[in-house]
Amino acid sequence: MAEYEAVIGLEVHVQLNTKSKLFCGCSTAFGAEANTQTCPVCLGLPGVLPVLNRAAFEKSVQAALALGCEIAPRTKFDRKNYYYPDLPKNYQISQYDMPLSTNGRLSFEVGGREKSVRIRRAHLEEDAGKLLHDDPRGSGKSLVDLNRTGTPLLEIVTEPDLSSAEEAVAYLAALKQLLEYIDVSDCEMQEGSMRCEPNVSVRPKGRKELGVKTEIKNLNSFKNVAAAVEYEIKRHIKLLESGERVRQETMLWDAEREVTAPMRSKEEAHDYRYFPEPDLPPFTMTPEAAERLRRALPELPAARRARFGKALGLDAYSAGVLTAEKPVADWYEGVLSAGASAPEAAKWVINDCLREREDRKLDFADFPVKPAELAALIGLVDKKTINATIARQKLLPAMFETRKGAAELVKELGLVQVTDTGAISAAIDAAIQKNPKALADYRGGRPEAIMFLVGQVMRETRGKANAQAVRELLEKRLKELG
Ligand code: ADP
Ligand code: ZN
Ligand code: MG
Repeated sequence: MAEYEAVIGLEVHVQLNTKSKLFCGCSTAFGAEANTQTCPVCLGLPGVLPVLNRAAFEKSVQAALALGCEIAPRTKFDRKNYYYPDLPKNYQISQYDMPLSTNGRLSFEVGGREKSVRIRRAHLEEDAGKLLHDDPRGSGKSLVDLNRTGTPLLEIVTEPDLSSAEEAVAYLAALKQLLEYIDVSDCEMQEGSMRCEPNVSVRPKGRKELGVKTEIKNLNSFKNVAAAVEYEIKRHIKLLESGERVRQETMLWDAEREVTAPMRSKEEAHDYRYFPEPDLPPFTMTPEAAERLRRALPELPAARRARFGKALGLDAYSAGVLTAEKPVADWYEGVLSAGASAPEAAKWVINDCLREREDRKLDFADFPVKPAELAALIGLVDKKTINATIARQKLLPAMFETRKGAAELVKELGLVQVTDTGAISAAIDAAIQKNPKALADYRGGRPEAIMFLVGQVMRETRGKANAQAVRELLEKRLKELG
């Protein structure tokens, strides 16, 4: 039996996060009442002229640069003609043979290996509207919402360089991270601002030529991408093994039944009759202009991860977690600027702050604890003003709760560590008195009784005693008691 390998190429559409649409001034805000964000241009009324949104153009060039693409010195728009009820003009303005960028690359880690995927092209186009097949008013009719018509999309097409569902999802995750980092898209898959169309084929292992591919339309979650790609790979292999052919088709994923079903075959494929958009001139991009946009890019995630490893001395896991999202990485570096050491701050951010964020569903844009205040907390632990357990269990939660500073809360809540030997000794005597059995155990040759007594002394001091001092003084006292 021949062994097969899968070959996958992805076409991804991301909605650029501009305030207004690609060729008119209408808002792109998500969730507005149907058809309230439209105008003669995006409705496709006769006699109107599109005007290119500069921010959309610049953001798409920045995305292309971040993907290592070559920027075309000259680019144009084309009309892609087809008829559909969500497309009032009967054509979509897209880019055909002169896309704004080509030949990029995205590298990422998957299954402990470094994987590099070639980007064939990235081009700018406008989105279509949305059909609502369940009329909320119960008419049983399909309705159309044209709010989305004309919002800017960047289409990013890979070469067929991926070979498993796992790699496809890892690519998407890396792409999403990169585009969020450079602030060109929010990549919200549930809101449709990132959609993926995988192309899948299989071939006997070692064979050079590609097999016949199928394309799966418009998937809007990593889970659906993984499931649909797995399904198609298995389906293709089954066909080939039973001596049948794979038909070149466009498939739809049925997420409920977890199967793909053909939508249209190649024979029915559209001839879009592309031609240059006559209402928009070709656009030129000088190397200087491209360079300006490149310089405006922030440090990209891969470079930042590497720097966190090398320059800050973090382990690979910590560097990965801290650079996964730009706001987190920025916040963490804020803690360092306020004087905390890199490994210590990393521990607090990963183990404590990110957990608080998770539990409290917080946004880093409005994080209740400022970086300098986490640095202050770390400093208080360093100087032994408070002990680490109190800092973790009492002080930090209080900082999240009240948004107050570390030093202020230490005073307010009386969290200062008890290092005064008199106070600790008194607590030790109290603990021994209340726990005669522990003392007897200790005398009976069971040293683990000390740990129990340390816990009891901490309880006497409501957790505020310096643990090391407690242990030393307790050992001394027990020896005295013999
Ligand atoms: P189409 O004209 O059907 O859109 P393209 O050649 O433009 O096909 O490729 C579209 C996407 O499909 C690209 O991401 C490409 O990498 C991928 N692709 C092309 N051929 C194959 C194949 N045989 N198997 C898997 N993916 C493929
Ligand atoms: Zn409009
Ligand atoms: Mg295609």
